[in-house]
Parts: sequence; C-alpha cells; structure tokens
Amino acid sequence: LLGYCAQSWMGRHSDTGYQQAGTHFADLGRMTGRGYKGITCFIVERESEGLVIGKKEEKLGIKASSTCPLHFDNVKVPASQVLGEIGHGYKYAISMLNEGRIGIAAQMIGLSQGCFDCTLAYTRQRKQFGKRIFDFQGMHHQIAHVASMIEAARLLTYNAARLQEAGLSFVKEACMAKYLAGEVATLTTSKCIEWMGGVGFTTSFPIEKYYRDCKIGMLHLCSRHTNWHIIIFSLKSDSHFKQR
Ligand SMILES: Cc1cc2nc3c(=O)[nH]c(=O)nc-3n(C[C@H](O)[C@H](O)[C@H](O)COP(=O)(O)OP(=O)(O)OC[C@H]3O[C@@H](n4cnc5c(N)ncnc54)[C@H](O)[C@@H]3O)c2cc1C
Repeated sequence: LLGYCAQSWMGRHSDTGYQQAGTHFADLGRMTGRGYKGITCFIVERESEGLVIGKKEEKLGIKASSTCPLHFDNVKVPASQVLGEIGHGYKYAISMLNEGRIGIAAQMIGLSQGCFDCTLAYTRQRKQFGKRIFDFQGMHHQIAHVASMIEAARLLTYNAARLQEAGLSFVKEACMAKYLAGEVATLTTSKCIEWMGGVGFTTSFPIEKYYRDCKIGMLHLCSRHTNWHIIIFSLKSDSHFKQR
C-alpha cells in the first residue's frame, strides 16, 4: 500500500498522507532553483530516520480514510527508491492529478446516485396528508431536476474517460466532469436531506453522511477555482475559441 503526497512541493507547511497505509509513502522532493524540473518522485519507508507522521486529522467526512501531515527532516532517500527519472516528478504528479479528476468525478456521481436512490425509496414509503411524499407534484419537479443533473455529470465523466482511454486530449473535459460532479453531489445531498424531512438530519439514515462526504469532491486533487483556471487555460488555446 502506498500513501501519496503530491503537494509537498507546492509550498504547504504540512502535507497529507495516510497514517495507516502500509509501510511506504510516495512523495515528491524539490531541488531549489530548478523550478518544476527540480521535482523528483520517490518512495520513503515508514521507519526512515527524520520522517515524522503527524496527528490524524479530525474531518467533516470520509472518516474511513485517515489524513495526517508528514514531516521530513533530512530524510535520506537511496537511489533505489527514486520513482521514474530524476527531475520528472512534476510530470508524473500532473498526469496522476489529470487522470485522478475523472476518478473523483465518478466518486461524486456514485455518492449522488446512492443518496438519491436511498432518499427516493423513503419518499415512496412515507405518507403525509394521505399521500406518499413521492406523489406530490412539487416533489416531482425537484426530483426531475436533480435526476437530470446527475445524468449530465455522469455523461461528462464518461466522455472524459472515453477520451482518456482513446489517448486523446482529456484534461479540460476531466476538469469539467470533476467540477460538475462536485456541484451535483452538493445539490443532490442537500436536496435529499430536505426531501427526507427531519430524519434526513439524523444518523438513522445515511443521508447526512453523504452530505458530509460530498464536500471533499470540491477539494481533492484541486479546488473549484483551480479547475476553472485549467478549463479557461484550455479554452484559450482552443482554435475554435481563438477564431471568435
Ligand atoms: C481529506 C483530504 C485529503 C487530502 N489528501 C491529499 C493527498 O493525499 N495528497 C495531496 O497531495 N493532497 C491531499 N489533499 C490536499 C488537497 O488536494 C488540497 O487541500 C486542495 O487541492 C486545495 O489546496 P489548499 O488546501 O492548499 O487550498 P488553497 O490553495 O489554500 O486555497 C484556498 C481557497 O482559495 C482558492 N484559491 C487559491 N488560489 C486561488 C486563485 N489563484 N484564484 C482564485 N481562488 C484561489 C481555492 O480555490 C480555495 O477555495 C487532501 C485534502 C483533504 C481535505
């Protein structure tokens, strides 16, 4: 098992990793003065001298996955533990982040669909004013809207995955998929809590967990603004965009 830590080179004070993950961590080291060409990917053994695994963070959601800072103080890394080529770490990290966005989008769609299905089953059982909650027209409009948004995010994600599998350019599409899937997960889980009524706010049903877990979709691998930045950057170099 490997914990990964792609952001030590982004100037953070602390890095995230997995406290309980196996015996190794993959990380990126930076040689100052060489810009992105000074970044190298390497593996560090858990017992390495100078490596300190910090306190496990208390989080809003995804609590089954541990997140903690890793501190490196003069850790010696043998040449045999360098991953790939020296100075190519940035390239490896970016390609992992680019592909990873499709995975996060898929995660958010699974979360949205699971939350939606669970909630709809409840609205078909719960009766108020002599009718099932599901049978009110006011509910139909909201449910149709959320179902359409989930489908739109799913198709965007499938499209990004299709382009990537075909070896075509997919970075803009992966960013769009991750962005929309995160927005849709936020919308879906919020609406579902409301559709459940008071019980949606309790831990008797999993909806509150979906609501807490969905927020990571806007942070993992890049924030909403970084996503937008990459989309705009891709649009600017798009020949169709340039002609206008
Ligand atoms: C549970 C969890 C697990 C994680 N696991 C890992 C991991 O395993 N490996 C790893 O490498 N990282 C991991 N991360 C880090 C994660 O990828 C970052 O937190 C995320 O990319 C945002 O970066 P940041 O926290 O530095 O936010 P910041 O860069 O400080 O941004 C804060 C806010 O400012 C906005 N902002 C920043 N710059 C601009 C700008 N130029 N214009 C407009 N707005 C801007 C951002 O969009 C955001 O809203 C994890 C994070 C969490 C919460």
